[in-house]
Amino acid sequence: MSILNVSVIGAGTMGNGIAHVFAQAGIKVHLIDVNPSQLQRALTNMGKNLDRQIAKGIITEEEKKAALGNITALSDIPEGVKHAELVVEAATENIELKLDIFKQIDIYAPAGCILATNTSSISITRIAASTRRPGMVIGMHFMNPVPVMKLVEIINGYETKKEVTDTIIELSKKLGKIPCSVNDYPGFIANRILMPMINEAIYSVYEGVAGVEEIDTVMKLGMAHPMGPLQLADFIGLDICYSILQVLQEGFRTSKYAPCPLLANMVIAGKLGVKSGEGFYTYTPGNKDLLVSQRFK
Ligand code: NAD
Repeated sequence: MSILNVSVIGAGTMGNGIAHVFAQAGIKVHLIDVNPSQLQRALTNMGKNLDRQIAKGIITEEEKKAALGNITALSDIPEGVKHAELVVEAATENIELKLDIFKQIDIYAPAGCILATNTSSISITRIAASTRRPGMVIGMHFMNPVPVMKLVEIINGYETKKEVTDTIIELSKKLGKIPCSVNDYPGFIANRILMPMINEAIYSVYEGVAGVEEIDTVMKLGMAHPMGPLQLADFIGLDICYSILQVLQEGFRTSKYAPCPLLANMVIAGKLGVKSGEGFYTYTPGNKDLLVSQRFK
């Protein structure tokens, strides 16, 4: 099945990037967000990211115009999904919100439309069960920043049909991505493996084994990781790391994944990493140097 019309729900960090890669691949996109100023911000960001691609010689000015011309921004889910062959939901990571969105798109999207979610941690099977078409529901987990990162983790729910998986794999390749198909268990593969490493790095700070810079340097230089786990945690958002660890802990019913008390404290104190300006490092606009937070010096 060839997909030419996609609706993306949520125009935040991920929705904006997801709309960008579909539009750039010549696919018509309806980008939907409840917040009109978020839609405006998404279009502005997309323009800037396309300009960056022009500056690097990846695309031309005409290709930028064509990509932006493929996007229609709106706030109305029924109107935005009525002609979709695929809906990709990238709204806020909140189970009740996502179940509500899926109930709506199940009503208003055409019967043959595939419903995908970009969730980092919520069960695809649970989301699918809130619809009348569980076989047509799948996880399409893009990585941040979407236009740059090659991986799409494709997550098969308990009832996802094989032809749906095959269609999404083919489509991901058309976007220039590398799809990896996995089954629906807590954290899927990416976060099931990444989050315990981040948690262990935070435990190493908490127990005074080493400083923030030392831990990140060991993992960067010793394991050839492009970014240390503490810097990566700041980039992802410490609140997101905390909530994914809770999903793993509850899903597998083992304390192995219990979030480190230091992580819990930082989240309660609002030290969420890049987005709040401070986590393990401090972030000030215009300053590219990576400075360890005063707290950990
Ligand atoms: P975000 O907070 O940047 O954006 C979420 C957007 O959803 C907001 O613009 C908000 O207005 C919109 N929204 C909320 N309720 C809505 C509704 N009912 N209808 C339409 N829009 C609605 O969040 P994000 O970081 O882009 O994350 C989106 C999803 O992608 C989450 O499920 C998250 O787990 C997943 N994800 C995030 C990352 C990441 O690094 N940020 C990586 C992979 C996956």
